[in-house]
Amino acid sequence: MIVCLFDIDGTLLNSGGAGQAAMEAAFVEQFGPMQPVEGVAYAGRTDRAIIADIFRYFDIEDDDHTRDEFVGRYFSHLPDKLSQKEGGVLPGVTVLLEELASRENVELGLLTGNFRRGAEIKLGHFDLFHHFEFGGFGDIHHDRGDVARDALQETRAFLNRDIHPSQIWVIGDTPADVSCARVIDANVIAVSTGHFSEETLAATKPDHLLPDFSDPQAILELLAL
Ligand SMILES: [Mg+2]
Repeated sequence: MIVCLFDIDGTLLNSGGAGQAAMEAAFVEQFGPMQPVEGVAYAGRTDRAIIADIFRYFDIEDDDHTRDEFVGRYFSHLPDKLSQKEGGVLPGVTVLLEELASRENVELGLLTGNFRRGAEIKLGHFDLFHHFEFGGFGDIHHDRGDVARDALQETRAFLNRDIHPSQIWVIGDTPADVSCARVIDANVIAVSTGHFSEETLAATKPDHLLPDFSDPQAILELLAL
């Protein structure tokens, strides 16, 4: 058996910036007008870490009450922003997921910086959520390596068996996806459909690197399926 743990943004779908727009709408609603934030990176990072950076930038105390309110507002804006922005499922993804899901020796999970609920909203918007029942998410940790550890633990708990890291394939679009896979000694496929070029991703030494998933058969072969 193998387990494929997918990243979301830039790997399965392009939200058209809906996540960032929903965070900005939440911010304006809670704190008032917002100037552009400089120096806060989004790609490959956990939502928890992004929010910590935004709060720090505006000198807002990052306590549980303030943050929970903000996250609730983010979830409530996200569906509208997904509808307004011109995002979409990335090439070949729908066919690839259906193909993988049909295999008895493959399990599909997530390894994402998104909040668990945010992941459900984004994937649900594009009718992909039904493929995923477990994973690691960005609710608590700042470091994606910790999310990978969570994903491994949740994978084992959900499948109720001792999955060895060599059975796991992390699939993502950023250097952080590659490095977090290495934290748990998993295999990794990088795909350059997000913000990072093939050259940048190649330097992080993924096991395999693809321009996109437009040829699902090629991935099935890489996974020896
Ligand atoms: Mg990504």
